[in-house]
Amino acid sequence: MTSTEKRLSPDTIVNFIGDIFNRRGAESYLGEPVTMSQHMLQGAFRAEQSGASDELIAAALLHDVGHYTSEFPEDALEKGVNNYHDSAGAAVLAPFFPKLVVDCVRYHVAAKRYLCATDPSYFNRLSEASVNSLKLQGGPMSADEVAAFRSNPNLDDILQVRFWDEDGKDPDLETPPFEHYAPVLQRVVERFSAGQG
Ligand code: FE
Repeated sequence: MTSTEKRLSPDTIVNFIGDIFNRRGAESYLGEPVTMSQHMLQGAFRAEQSGASDELIAAALLHDVGHYTSEFPEDALEKGVNNYHDSAGAAVLAPFFPKLVVDCVRYHVAAKRYLCATDPSYFNRLSEASVNSLKLQGGPMSADEVAAFRSNPNLDDILQVRFWDEDGKDPDLETPPFEHYAPVLQRVVERFSAGQG
């Protein structure tokens, strides 16, 4: 595919994401007993079942899309931005999704580090793979990092998406397919692009 064909717009972003889910979703999710698409769909399903907004369902669905940087158009990743999956996912979504969604994606790893520093019961909810990656991700936040993180106006939603992330690792949980959530994503994209005017 050429970079022109891959250039994204509000009309193509949802199909672009759906194509990644369909072609790459069966890949395993970093030592968890679920595939990548099961994991992300389970997050969205948990969000949907708890009556969450379209934006938060979108955030739960897309939080790990940054694992697919090899699929992204070159211009989606600014020069100098590292290739960590949280910031890579945020970079590809930022032109099309509201800041709330982008923040939930950008900070879902930070949220884990924050919760490990502030909520003693949270650590016990982490899967073994997630405990292992915590170290690579910098371990629990320092007091200064906690204070800075707390100032994000989207903190509560960021943490909620992190909890759905934790809950999306169940090999026995069936969910609707990506296509069920495509219209939710499209609504969020359309509202955002209308607001951008
Ligand atoms: Fe995840």
